[in-house]
Amino acid sequence: MAPFDFRTLPTRNSRRIAVRVRPKVEKHIRSGHPWLFADSITSTSHQGNTGDHAVIFDRNNKFLAIGLWDAGSKIPVKLLHAGSPTKVDTNWLKAKLTGIFTARDRHFDPARTNGYRLIHGENDGLPDLVIDRYASVVVIKLYSAIWLPDLETVCATLQAHYACDGIVLRLARRFKSTHGNLQDGMCLAGVLPAKPNFLENGIRFNVDPVRGQKTGFFLDQRDNRAKVGTLSKDKTLLNVFSYSGGFSLTAAQHGATAVTSLDISQYALTEAEENFALNANLARVAACQHETLADDAFSALTTLARQNKMFDVVVTDPPSFANKQADVPNALAAYARLNKLAAKVVKPKGILVAASCSSRITREKFFEAVFQGLSQAQRQATIIDETFHAVDHPIGFAEGGYLKCLYLQLD
Ligand code: SAH
Repeated sequence: MAPFDFRTLPTRNSRRIAVRVRPKVEKHIRSGHPWLFADSITSTSHQGNTGDHAVIFDRNNKFLAIGLWDAGSKIPVKLLHAGSPTKVDTNWLKAKLTGIFTARDRHFDPARTNGYRLIHGENDGLPDLVIDRYASVVVIKLYSAIWLPDLETVCATLQAHYACDGIVLRLARRFKSTHGNLQDGMCLAGVLPAKPNFLENGIRFNVDPVRGQKTGFFLDQRDNRAKVGTLSKDKTLLNVFSYSGGFSLTAAQHGATAVTSLDISQYALTEAEENFALNANLARVAACQHETLADDAFSALTTLARQNKMFDVVVTDPPSFANKQADVPNALAAYARLNKLAAKVVKPKGILVAASCSSRITREKFFEAVFQGLSQAQRQATIIDETFHAVDHPIGFAEGGYLKCLYLQLD
């Protein structure tokens, strides 16, 4: 296949858009908040294009911040830099990316973990840009078109730092590509290995960066998988919303005797089975009995409870239940119901690990919902731990935290 021609992408106008804002948001911007909402803008110098640089000035015409213009968005400026005036250009971007890559690499021993998030969007000061690394394959996920003028620089910087075999482009559903030559799952550089895989804490996982959910794997749960592993020695585990078996494999690696992966997607469960086969060289994984259950979590849990099937450890890690603010009440009810059903299949003195990745649901509301479910299941619980995202998913601003995970010891 011919290499991707970056010259077909939109370029940036050299004229920057001057943006003036309501005085009350100046403080907000100075403090480094990454979003400038449309209703905070009082004037712009001209109509720019998506991806142009926008410079925000305060009421005294002093530089406040610089960002990327997103035409037609509710957040027309996504900030790159606030504070003292700085030249934001290709060299700035290269240095910024390389600085973050180097800091990330330091967190991991490549002999054990070579899959991690390189860029976590606005939390790393690069809004709408997510980059995940899976060994020699890198996935760039764009949440808007603001990065198209810089896409070549991003790819070149990645190749210089990681000597990648392949760079895959993923486009968020909300980013409708207006550029006919860009497609979700396309390869921007290099050639993808037939079956890419990577290591997480010594376990090898296949990953499908082209068709898999998100960028192919849920890297944010790495530390929780490791923690569940330490709780699973000589235990049975039910992994609800298992995807490709991340929690299941980690429990097996730590000596779980039997593990059940439950997911509505047969494709995900086939991946989970393949991942068990891929790690058959690990004695404990080979000794662990692995079963899959392709079903809706709510109905499968109801059936398991009816059959009196109980587990020492149960993990519930559903997809986001609240994609917009209006979904919040139903999402809370769903968390309560899910964890009620899950609690019913936890053995006496067993452990329930309840996670939520809905950014719109606060920690407090999530805890309330889980405890409501426990009370409906007539199970008492003590919190033995509470965790957030793994280290490669930093929280750079208040809205940046989304993952909550509760470890409960049941009665
Ligand atoms: N715990 C996983 C990530 C879970 S992602 C890990 O560590 O990798 C959420 C998963 O929920 C997806 O695999 C999706 O297929 C599955 N899913 C979505 N709706 C479901 C439902 N109603 N019942 C069961 N699984 C569901």
